[in-house]
Amino acid sequence: MEEKKSFLKEKIDINSPNKNIVPISTSIGSDGKLSIGGCSIEELVKRYDSPLYILDEITLRKSCRAYKKALEKYYPGKSLPIYASKANSSIFMSNLVASEGFGLDAVSEGELLTALKGGVPNKHIVFHGNNKSDKEIEFAVKNNIKVIVDNDYDLERLEELSNSFDQDLEIMIRFTPGIECHTHEYIRTGSFDSKFGFGIEYLNNLFARISNIKHLKLKGIHAHIGSQIFELDPHKDLGEIMVNVILEAKKFGHDIEELNVGGGLGIKYTENDDPPSIDEWVKTISTSIVKACKKQNIDLPTLMCEPGRSIVSTAGITIYKIGAFKEIPGITTYLSVDGGMSDNPRPITYQSNYSACLVSNPFNFNSKKKYTIAGKHCESGDVLFKEIELADCKTGDLICVFGTGAYNNSMSSNYNRIPRPAALLVFDGEAEVIQKRESPLDLLRYDVLPDRFIKQN
Ligand SMILES: *Cc1c(COP(=O)(O)O)cnc(C)c1O
Repeated sequence: MEEKKSFLKEKIDINSPNKNIVPISTSIGSDGKLSIGGCSIEELVKRYDSPLYILDEITLRKSCRAYKKALEKYYPGKSLPIYASKANSSIFMSNLVASEGFGLDAVSEGELLTALKGGVPNKHIVFHGNNKSDKEIEFAVKNNIKVIVDNDYDLERLEELSNSFDQDLEIMIRFTPGIECHTHEYIRTGSFDSKFGFGIEYLNNLFARISNIKHLKLKGIHAHIGSQIFELDPHKDLGEIMVNVILEAKKFGHDIEELNVGGGLGIKYTENDDPPSIDEWVKTISTSIVKACKKQNIDLPTLMCEPGRSIVSTAGITIYKIGAFKEIPGITTYLSVDGGMSDNPRPITYQSNYSACLVSNPFNFNSKKKYTIAGKHCESGDVLFKEIELADCKTGDLICVFGTGAYNNSMSSNYNRIPRPAALLVFDGEAEVIQKRESPLDLLRYDVLPDRFIKQN
């Protein structure tokens, strides 16, 4: 039998899961088939159906611990890693990150409620967003959750709230440091032309204004420069810029105690990707801040960082079942699966690439052919893989797509009224449901037919 190079044979780095394509607990059973967390994927699909999201607990915990360990090693002051919950928000994820000593970043009442339900301590939650509703801001303030002020509108409402409660409020402000990094423009946030945060050139003005607001205490500054970043230099620069901002704020009487550098570390989706390790990323940003503080002779602030993708992406896989084939001679063979852009909108949104294999033949034994893997939605662009080499496969076979833990479930939709997949957690041979599969009937729950329309049957 012919066997070629496969990403499944790469050595797994257990200390920095973002450097692997596959979850740490990936293995090939004695039957030659794929298993995760000690669970046969074929068995899981028999029991829970497809498409199926699966999260590997070991990979999640190793990712969290890599951040914790590196912060303790390179940052002698106080630090708090904060999980950016938009990557994958659930009661389970909130609970897991809290159990690893992480805080959580939320950008809506829904994400805030999920964090609280999952047991994240209020004081470890930060509330982001460039257009928070009045209700959301009030909810955060009443629950002692720190608001990250993104713009003047936030500031005005917090001023009013603090006055009406006659109570001091600690705030952080978000600014755009003017750093360009090489990532997709939709996920680049640190350059001057961004909808998020105050431009760095307005900060002195802002500091003066906040000094005149009785109950608002400026405790921290925040910047987030983008996502899926492979370079280290932008974060090194960010550390220096932020320490300079602390110095500027001092001139206006603000004692900045918290410095939040955002997230953004990239992960390995395909063999072409080579992101830095979690250790290297934390080392770069920590060293830059420690050096700059020493040079300026100021105390080290509490360091916060907000990883999302690098915590959860590699831990997640999605399993699809193959349905129809359509061969277009001389062009390609379409192979359609039972999910697509509703459970993974990243390929159609960002042209993002993934790695995949057949569950029953993960190493691609036997003759290979190039396929286009299409989703089942009514969009020609609903294509998960443009050209992927797979061994002979047939209707009913399962495909595993790797690296889907982040920005899949959280960005999923019900386009074409397709119910969301179930999500499982696997660990040590056991699988547990962390999100129930939606049913088509669930999707009708909020439909209303006005009385004057006659029921047709
Ligand atoms: C998206 C986001 C993050 C997380 O980014 P990742 O690339 O997933 O690590 C952190 N902070 C803020 C403010 C964000 O918007």
